[in-house]
Amino acid sequence: MTGRIIKCKRTHYSKEINQELNGEEVTIMGWIHEIRDLGGIIFVLLRDRDGILQITAPSKKVTPELFKQIQQLKKESVITVIGTVKGSPKAPGGVEIIPQNIELLNESKLPLPLDTTEKVRAEIDTRLDSRFLDLRKHSISSIFKIKSRMLHSVRLFLEENGFIEINTPKLVASATEGGTELFPITYFEREAFLGQSPQLYKQMMMASGFDQVYEIAPIFRAEEHDTLRHLNEAISIDMEAAFCDHEDVMITLEQLVVTAIKDVKDHCQSELETLEIDLKVPKTPFKRVDYDDMIDMVNSQGVPLRHGEDLSRAAEKAMGELINDYYFITGWPTDIKPFYVMPSPEDPQKSCAFDLMHADLEISSGAMRVHKHDLLMERIKKQGLNPDSFNRYLAAFEYGMPPHSGWGLGAERFTMCLTGASNIRETVLFPRDRRRLTP
Ligand code: ATP
Ligand code: MG
Repeated sequence: MTGRIIKCKRTHYSKEINQELNGEEVTIMGWIHEIRDLGGIIFVLLRDRDGILQITAPSKKVTPELFKQIQQLKKESVITVIGTVKGSPKAPGGVEIIPQNIELLNESKLPLPLDTTEKVRAEIDTRLDSRFLDLRKHSISSIFKIKSRMLHSVRLFLEENGFIEINTPKLVASATEGGTELFPITYFEREAFLGQSPQLYKQMMMASGFDQVYEIAPIFRAEEHDTLRHLNEAISIDMEAAFCDHEDVMITLEQLVVTAIKDVKDHCQSELETLEIDLKVPKTPFKRVDYDDMIDMVNSQGVPLRHGEDLSRAAEKAMGELINDYYFITGWPTDIKPFYVMPSPEDPQKSCAFDLMHADLEISSGAMRVHKHDLLMERIKKQGLNPDSFNRYLAAFEYGMPPHSGWGLGAERFTMCLTGASNIRETVLFPRDRRRLTP
């Protein structure tokens, strides 16, 4: 029995049952993955969180009542099995359980809306409609175990490096920046919006003296995109740090990425095996590609991209053909980045903004921010925004705002890199996209 905090009659998870337990009585719990009735012997494959275990019931070795009970079991029903461990070279994992007692905890309805044994492939929409069943497949649950471990190691990395966790409001009065569409909501007698980014709040925190903050929370984007990389609700890993420039937070970002990858490799071996992923630890420092060079690289692939344009999907793909790894794009034109991005001191046409890419996928955007009030006002006006709607934010820049920098890293996009998922919906339990609001 392992030290568990949940009081449960289960003595072992499937993966804890091995030959060393030969002859011992165990209590296991889970779902019926498959039943094979060969007449004189019935095999029940019992699935739990971690794996699949074979329950072997030969008619000669179990009581007639128990044999009859097993014959009547239905797939995906939940059972408790008390039985004896027996080494068996033919069974999966080299062990089987000879049952003494089976308790049916809850019977499953049949037919199932989808095949949990993965022999019949289902469309993603069918799978998402019955997500609880879909998640019973180890190939699907592995994605979320990896995502959970990544978030754990990100938190640990930031905490160990002096960041404190903050929570900023998701009900907001106005847009964080121009460009992104917002979801309007009714806030008593007023109109409000769902937050598209914690950007302005984490910047205000830089005027608080906390120096280094992070937040892991949902962001809401009302864009009508229907792509494999966009959600309307996503989790953003955001950080902001004072008294530093964009180069400093780029180093934090690449170290965080490497730390998380190593941690996932160390702790999610069986999940990575299930997904057939050979995760490589990238070398640091990551390659830095200047925006101007990036234009040439994209054009050299036969994809048109002019100076002053953001990356088109075709341009992202062209870059992915050239660099199949993590890399930064730096030196972005100031005009195509948000107002809070610091123009470069050497050449104000260029900015102190960067994107972190993995092949053709943008996973993070960051920058050194403007910390001077007057320049910020000028930039807000130049981008056609109304400074009045930023009053409370702007005030933080009048009473001692230190220079600061930060980034936002998409948790789902990073999970795609870790799991090889090509559709971002695979990395969210219950995705929200243009068409999907349930379950
Ligand atoms: P893209 O250009 O790919 O649409 P973006 O530049 O609009 O992304 P940012 O505002 O820079 O996105 O957000 C920072 C990070 O948050 C992105 O790099 C990405 O990882 C994640 N992110 C942003 N929007 C979405 C979305 N709609 N769905 C999933 N992740 C997102
Ligand atoms: Mg971006």
